[in-house]
Amino acid sequence: MIPDMNLLRMVIPTPFPVGPINIYLIREDPLTLIDTGPKTEEALTALREQLRAERLIIADIERVILTHTHEDHCGLAAIIQRESGARVHVHEWEYRNISEHREHRANRQLLERTGAPAAELDLMVSRYEMVHSFAEAVGDVAAYRDGDEFLFASGSIRALHTPGHTPGSCCLFRDASRLMLAGDTVLKTITPNPVLSADPRDHSRRFPSLASYIDSASRIRTLAPTVIKTAHGEDVTDYEEHYHRLIRHIEKRAGRVVELVPDAGITAWEMSQLLFPNVSQINRFLAASESIAHLDRAVALGRLRREPDGEVDRYFPIHS
Ligand SMILES: [Zn+2]
Repeated sequence: MIPDMNLLRMVIPTPFPVGPINIYLIREDPLTLIDTGPKTEEALTALREQLRAERLIIADIERVILTHTHEDHCGLAAIIQRESGARVHVHEWEYRNISEHREHRANRQLLERTGAPAAELDLMVSRYEMVHSFAEAVGDVAAYRDGDEFLFASGSIRALHTPGHTPGSCCLFRDASRLMLAGDTVLKTITPNPVLSADPRDHSRRFPSLASYIDSASRIRTLAPTVIKTAHGEDVTDYEEHYHRLIRHIEKRAGRVVELVPDAGITAWEMSQLLFPNVSQINRFLAASESIAHLDRAVALGRLRREPDGEVDRYFPIHS
């Protein structure tokens, strides 16, 4: 039998609706932390306490690998680096998010194209300015790519670029045991949000987040992972079934989105109101992200037509 990764799950509180985050300490040589928790006193205290229970301190950490640069995943990276000197690794498409930490998630230019009213736009942008403050820039960052191996004395883990939730989202995979660390790309009870993002290859365009996410899910399936360690909630140990449930859920919503488009056309913002009529203010950005992701994918699949209407994109049915 192949020994599993020597892994410790640490549960760190976050101020976000998603609840606590799971970060993972790989207790091998070099001592490696996967994701960090947000930059809050509560998270830092929880990290210190859970390390102390293992007779460790932050200064013992030798390497930090980020699955992506959402604040709950990367917020403490700078503090950990200051105390330990550990280099922080991130996928090349999110390198600047962490080395500069300038852009925040609610991209005004992309949101304007959804047709969100100005007052809603301001609310979303200011909320994410607040979210943005739960992380900070990191000095020593190394970019990794799909297929890169992180070596340990006892084996290695391989980076799999699994874009979708964010453009640079990655999973880490140990081929020997088929154990995967998935960040937010696989979650047991939540379908990860295809967050509205600029395309790293062309910042003026939207990243095709949902289509990419489905491709990433299929790619994970081909690896037949035995255990998937997730960033929120429990492990996924039945990925084959999980995958089919996920695709059914996505296709069901995809069908509904196409049905809801009236002959007169609709904006992504209007679609988000139809799909999620009772969504709370703090989740409206995610609702808009989900809507635009489905609309763009339907266009890519030839199920809808998209036309610019001034600064806003409108979507129309295709009648056969
Ligand atoms: Zn995330």
